[in-house]
Amino acid sequence: MERGPCPICLDGYAPGDEIVRMPCAHTAHWRCGAKWLSGARTCPTCRFEISS
Ligand SMILES: [Zn+2]
Ligand SMILES: [Zn+2]
Repeated sequence: MERGPCPICLDGYAPGDEIVRMPCAHTAHWRCGAKWLSGARTCPTCRFEISS
C-alpha cells in the first residue's frame, strides 16, 4: 500500500484505490493523475517533468 495523501485531491489512499506512479516515484490516485496529466506534464508533487 502506498502512503498518502494523494497530492492532487489530498485524500489518503484507500484499499483498492488504483494508484499511478510517476517516473520520479511519486504517486497519486490513478483517476487524479489522469486528470492532472491531461493539463500538465509535471509531477504534482515535485514538478519533475514527465516527458512521455
Ligand atoms: Zn487523488
Ligand atoms: Zn515527483
